[in-house]
Amino acid sequence: MTLTKSQKRFNDNLVKLSEEDDYDKCIDEWKFTGIYIEDNDYDNNCLCGKPLKHQYYYINQKTGKIICSGKSCKQKLKRLEKEKRTRKIEDLFKIFTSNGMKNIGDYDLLEYCQKNFDNITEIFLNEIRKYGTIEDLNDYKIYLQEEWSNFLDIKILLDEIEELKENIIKKEKEKLEKERLEKERLKKEKLHMQRLEKERLEKERIENELKEKIKKEREKNRKERKEREEKKLLENKLSSKNYSIYGNSGKTFSWLTNNSTLLEIKNLLNEGKITECQYKNILDNR
Ligand SMILES: [Zn+2]
Repeated sequence: MTLTKSQKRFNDNLVKLSEEDDYDKCIDEWKFTGIYIEDNDYDNNCLCGKPLKHQYYYINQKTGKIICSGKSCKQKLKRLEKEKRTRKIEDLFKIFTSNGMKNIGDYDLLEYCQKNFDNITEIFLNEIRKYGTIEDLNDYKIYLQEEWSNFLDIKILLDEIEELKENIIKKEKEKLEKERLEKERLKKEKLHMQRLEKERLEKERIENELKEKIKKEREKNRKERKEREEKKLLENKLSSKNYSIYGNSGKTFSWLTNNSTLLEIKNLLNEGKITECQYKNILDNR
């Protein structure tokens, strides 16, 4: 059976991208990714060079190379299409549906594959950056090592995982330090408030004490004044009534009431030495 030009090109390219040199053997290295894209722009080419609307993607498990195949060429790879859709296949699907494959134009196979590798790496990096915990990152690391490391250079991906883990640890530390500082600040603030309250209460106590003192002082003064006034009043009363000289009589009130005769008092009144009022007072008190 003679091969057409495009069939020969497909076979030759497939061998170039495989480990085995023989087409029939190398075909076992290729796995269908489960990814099919219908592209109305025909924006990718089959490995045979034909621009494609119906694009089927295959990966070589030994070399990590990724190719695109059209309907007719894929017949040759058909027996590989029954692969289960594993997590790996899901990831590849994401890779191809998000980035698609650019037109590889005039088939520089190395450039074609390098570009696919870069695309895949970028998609994986985006996937990795979605993980926010050390546990998830470690999980993904194990998955990459177990499922992909055999045919894909995952060093960049592992480096990214380690860097993200370091960042998480750093942020965790920063968070703890921030919390510690905040706690300290609150504690200081609390102490400060307590001190202020204590000072306020002490001030209030002193003020009350002072008020009380002033109040007592006033009461004392009032009492003393009252006492003085009463004393003075009493003295006045006593002096005026008993001990001081009554009018111009030359005698005290008490002497006149207790010792004088009625005649003597009448004489004093007649002589104008006591007033009419004083005369009556004496008589009233006899
Ligand atoms: Zn083709």
